[in-house]
Amino acid sequence: MDSQNYSAPQDLLTGKVIAVTGASDGIGAVAAKTFASFGATVILMGRTVPKLEKVYDDIESAGWPQPAIYPICLEGASEKDYEDMYDRLEETFGKLDGLLHNAGELGQRTPIANYKLSTWQKVLQVNVTAEFMMTKALLPLLEKSDSASIIFTTSGVGRVGKPFWGAYAISKFATEGMSQVLANELEGISNIRVNCINPGATRTRMRATAFPAEDPSTIKIPEDIMPLYLYLMGNDSEGITGQSMDAQ
Ligand code: NDP
Repeated sequence: MDSQNYSAPQDLLTGKVIAVTGASDGIGAVAAKTFASFGATVILMGRTVPKLEKVYDDIESAGWPQPAIYPICLEGASEKDYEDMYDRLEETFGKLDGLLHNAGELGQRTPIANYKLSTWQKVLQVNVTAEFMMTKALLPLLEKSDSASIIFTTSGVGRVGKPFWGAYAISKFATEGMSQVLANELEGISNIRVNCINPGATRTRMRATAFPAEDPSTIKIPEDIMPLYLYLMGNDSEGITGQSMDAQ
């Protein structure tokens, strides 16, 4: 299966409930709209409500299934907030078929020798600890699905420790590790598959901040990388777990 060129059937995600973190912007906003366009009810998670409302309106005016907005600041949320999240989603939807961990903080592009502890803590909190807390809280809801998919978001610098990427790179190594540990724990005893996507260079605000001298017109837009997101979210990827895949 050439998952980078996967062609999804129009009803791929019909009846599925899928949560997307960082759904307000960049890859997350496009992934949420794409999942909705293939039939999913999407839960738009993020911290900037007016931006989430814009994504909500785009989905509603396109006539796709009505989404939901779930405001959450991943830097500040506590374990109790994730327990409350479970309760509210259970009450409203009764199950969860997909969870895309997409939100991310870039932090500083600077040597470890100069790296600020406060930035380190923020990046690790958002990119790793929040993912752990949310995954742990929502696993019982994902278990209620016949076929559920958890997707983590990695990066090329989460596989090779390149200089000056600091906590961001280290957080992505940790994300790859969390995905593998969880995939191996669930394999054979659960309907939940767990994989990582490396988006590759994609035209977003984060990319422009990380590479200010790059001409944005030379790189892919989020819409271009959606085939792999659809493949891993839909049932055609049943049995695929513990993988880290490149979207381009
Ligand atoms: P953007 O900066 O465009 O979007 C990041 C998203 O994460 C936004 O929705 C943002 O919310 C949200 N977010 C950040 N911090 C928090 C927080 N504390 N609480 C809640 N939400 C938060 O980035 P991309 O779309 O480029 O990145 C998406 C993912 O892809 C990230 O995990 C990134 O590491 C990864 N990636 C991206 C690449 C690229 O080239 N673009 C390459 C490799 C990996 P808000 O709108 O409120 O700021």
